[in-house]
Amino acid sequence: MSTGAVASVKAKLDIVEIIGESVPLRKAGTTWKGLCPFHGEKTPSFVVTPARESWHCFGCGLGGDVFSFVMQREGIDFPEALKRLAARAGVELDERTSREDARRKRLRDVLEAAVAFYHRVLTDTRHGQPALDYLRGRGFTDETVATFQLGWAPDAWEPLSKALRTKRGATDEELETVGLAVRGRRGVYDRFRGRIIFPIRDASGHATGLGGRILEQGGDGASGRDRGPKYLNSPATPLFDKSRSLYLVDRARTAMRRTGRAVIVEGYTDALMAHQAGFENVVAGLGTALTAAQVELLTRYAPSIALAYDVDPAGQSAGTFGATELTALIAEVQRSRARVGLTEVGVVRLPEGKDPDEVIRDDRATWEAAVGAPQPIMDYLVEYFAARHDPRTVQGRKRLVEAVAPTLRQIGDPVERDAYVQSLARRAGVDVRTVQELLQRPETARPGTDPSATGHGTGRFTADAVLASRETIDGTEAAQTLDPIERELLGLLLRHVDERAAIAAADELPPEALLTTPARELWRAVREADVAARAADSAAAGTTLEPFVRGLDPELAAIVRGLVERAAPRLSDDRASRAVEQCLIRLQLRRVGDELDFLRAELAEAQARGRAVAGGAASGGSAETGAAGGAALDGAASGGVVAGGPVAGGGIAVADNLIDRIRALERERADLDRRAAASTVLTRTTSRTPVGGPV
Ligand SMILES: [Zn+2]
Repeated sequence: MSTGAVASVKAKLDIVEIIGESVPLRKAGTTWKGLCPFHGEKTPSFVVTPARESWHCFGCGLGGDVFSFVMQREGIDFPEALKRLAARAGVELDERTSREDARRKRLRDVLEAAVAFYHRVLTDTRHGQPALDYLRGRGFTDETVATFQLGWAPDAWEPLSKALRTKRGATDEELETVGLAVRGRRGVYDRFRGRIIFPIRDASGHATGLGGRILEQGGDGASGRDRGPKYLNSPATPLFDKSRSLYLVDRARTAMRRTGRAVIVEGYTDALMAHQAGFENVVAGLGTALTAAQVELLTRYAPSIALAYDVDPAGQSAGTFGATELTALIAEVQRSRARVGLTEVGVVRLPEGKDPDEVIRDDRATWEAAVGAPQPIMDYLVEYFAARHDPRTVQGRKRLVEAVAPTLRQIGDPVERDAYVQSLARRAGVDVRTVQELLQRPETARPGTDPSATGHGTGRFTADAVLASRETIDGTEAAQTLDPIERELLGLLLRHVDERAAIAAADELPPEALLTTPARELWRAVREADVAARAADSAAAGTTLEPFVRGLDPELAAIVRGLVERAAPRLSDDRASRAVEQCLIRLQLRRVGDELDFLRAELAEAQARGRAVAGGAASGGSAETGAAGGAALDGAASGGVVAGGPVAGGGIAVADNLIDRIRALERERADLDRRAAASTVLTRTTSRTPVGGPV
């Protein structure tokens, strides 16, 4: 049995070396510091701690282990990051992983062969001529057609299937699995017929699916027949998940990072035209409303998102982006792990009735100006409703406030929410308190929001099924790759569905609050399984651990087994609840402690700089205060530092700011200590001591 690839990779690779390849780092005590590659900054707040195999940015809040760094940097998911780092460390992946990889690779090859086939038909055969003429007529150059591998699927039943079977040895099962063919009564036939083909790729540039669009008119003959929907995408396949894909993300990511802004358009041709014109930070959605996963994908590259959809002021006609979609998007932004601020999401205002590709082609300056100054999404929404409900009338005011209220309730950040409450009140001409009062009224119950409905029956994981399965990775060993707090917390949560429901209801534990990537991935998978179980309303059946584990990556599955194997017997509800709370507090204490260490070191540096500026006028005594890492700041004695550490020039403001933040964190820590103590006292009466010891 092996310890698992995750543990071996971490043991063999040096996190400072891996991160140091793309981020210049300098040593600072036991840590390394550099400029954060994920947000723009001029003074380093990106810290790598080799002892813990972790990194954290105190500027933007991102952090994690070597896997999450590579995921963030490359825009790839965990299995892909594991594969790359394992290859680099010379670690062999579990047999099941390699089998799975081989299968995915085979499917990808079949899909790439289809992309090449369709491209050849478009550019090299008479079947493709009408489509090629159409694309040229829309203003696309032959170079664009070649670069983006556009294609044409002939309007016939099986040219692709035939070609891939004979030339590539593809099986019907493979053609069907990868979404290229559909099974009928007499075998499989091509899914895409009589359509322009747009290859869809993941951030690493691998083909994952296809988008197909019918020609406006004419095309490959066969007029009058029902040609199906205007756009047809690949179905969900092992390679393709529409809700996590964006057209041209592979080509846009560098520009998104450089410009700090991701621009989303609606149509494939809009995105293509933007790239052809040199606006490369543009991606297209896949014909559905944006999902949290897509928002998250974008914010890996850019902190700000501009929506250049055909936002329809009337919101009536089909296929346009109206208020409902905007509200849904705001909810998704709030749900996404990225926690991008709502002010960073804006709507691009284009000249009425114009599609992005027209504007880009005919009027570059207008496009540049519009994309450069998008209207913040909440302002846009308020304006949108104000145009429909006249705030000069009593009825209009009421309707306006009521229309925006559901969206305001979605905003998690109280400061942000408050700002929008005020602007809505101003716009509607009502008192701020009136809006607040309306917000406090209970919202009409929506399915899935009632925590009491989630606790029963769902997610009833049974340990026996998991332990019964024989595996090659030693679960207990694999679980060692998690931090002790994570081991205890996830062990508890796997066994106590009520605790999971409570955490989900209060949104207490976003995956990124955990420390290691395997723990985050596991927690995310558990939460998704719970949501699915709730949606299926399995009040009687419940989810068992077995199918859940079977669906997991083998590395994660081994960790789950390890967590379940080492688990103490199920605790009473009350004790489980306290144990979970202890873990959550310890996680927060860890975070606060790390930030305090960072800020104290910053303060020491700022004070040292200040003294240098002051030309050595400062007393020698204060220098030691700084060098000691600001230890004097602990507790109530912190006032002494301000007096004891004279800081000159612009350093004063910096140091004052640091001292304020340090004090706030010290208060937070004292508070957490109190909560931890209170919880422990109560726990001890039932003789439970948290595993893993104090932080
Ligand atoms: Zn950062």
